[in-house]
Amino acid sequence: MAVATRVSERIERLREQLEEPLLVTSGVNVRYLTGFTSSNAALLVGDDRVILFTDFRYITAARAIPGVELVQSQGSLLKTVAETLDGRVGFESAVVTYAGYETLRDGGLELVPRTSLVESLRAVKDDGELATIREAARITDEVYAAFAEERFVGRTERDLAWRLEQLYREHGAQGLAFEAIVGSGPTGAQPHGRPTDRVIEANTTVVVDSGCVVDGYNSDCTRTFATGDLPGDLAEAYDVTLRAQLAGLDAMRAGTTGHDADAAARDVIEAAGLGDKFGHGLGHGVGLQVHEAPGARRESSDTLAPGNVVSCEPGIYLPDRGGVRIEDLVVITDGDPEILYAYTKELVTVR
Ligand code: ZN
Ligand code: ZN
Repeated sequence: MAVATRVSERIERLREQLEEPLLVTSGVNVRYLTGFTSSNAALLVGDDRVILFTDFRYITAARAIPGVELVQSQGSLLKTVAETLDGRVGFESAVVTYAGYETLRDGGLELVPRTSLVESLRAVKDDGELATIREAARITDEVYAAFAEERFVGRTERDLAWRLEQLYREHGAQGLAFEAIVGSGPTGAQPHGRPTDRVIEANTTVVVDSGCVVDGYNSDCTRTFATGDLPGDLAEAYDVTLRAQLAGLDAMRAGTTGHDADAAARDVIEAAGLGDKFGHGLGHGVGLQVHEAPGARRESSDTLAPGNVVSCEPGIYLPDRGGVRIEDLVVITDGDPEILYAYTKELVTVR
């Protein structure tokens, strides 16, 4: 065991909030706190010690992490944790499985369930994180501009989704944030409809929701394209969604609750008589994960704070007809929100 002295400032900030040592088992949270990326790691943050548990495959990388004692597990990681620690230990109750809980408990630990400790730190991005997310957003912007140059009508959603993925790679993305959504007509009427073999027709909408990864951080963007003149109901849905999106953006300010930001956009859609066609929340935090704190939805009690990166993505879904969603990512600041995409939100027609 090598004992180093300096730990990250993020670990220091976490420590200030702890009532007992915290066992961090979320891989994303371990990465956030230490910079260590692995599929099998746990981090114990105590008053005067920080212990990183991992296995043989990652041990070389783990040795490079400053300020941690290193424990190499043989077999079950949590069994090793239980054998190494004793006494009262907080654990991430939204992460640990029941079987994992039993392993820790049977090892004699006095377990205290904790939630959102690291997640609430992650919600406020530092300058380096913001720069990385801006880079992911810049690539996304370029990809949407290039994608709109493609032919849509007569191609399948699946074919176009693959083209979108290629464009992300060609523009420097390290990967996709999630499987891209390309939803034409009825497919787009399902908010998270997967691309199908449906051949895209003229005079409908195509919802394109995608994002990319840069150094672990994600972008998330939706634009809705028209494949020719739209029928009245879809044209109206676009107009109302855009107005709702702008109202939502205007409400995304430090001190506003996620609930109130959601309401600002929802009010516009309800006033148009389409409230029941907007069945999801306005937005979510984005960072190392595509969905993280804070939440901007009806049931959210989160309050927006400078440094939050949040999506603003109202949508209107007309069953069997088509869907419209428009999604930006914004950085919450002390003043106006910083919108991370420059790609137009005016209706773009592709044929
Ligand atoms: Zn999205
Ligand atoms: Zn989103």
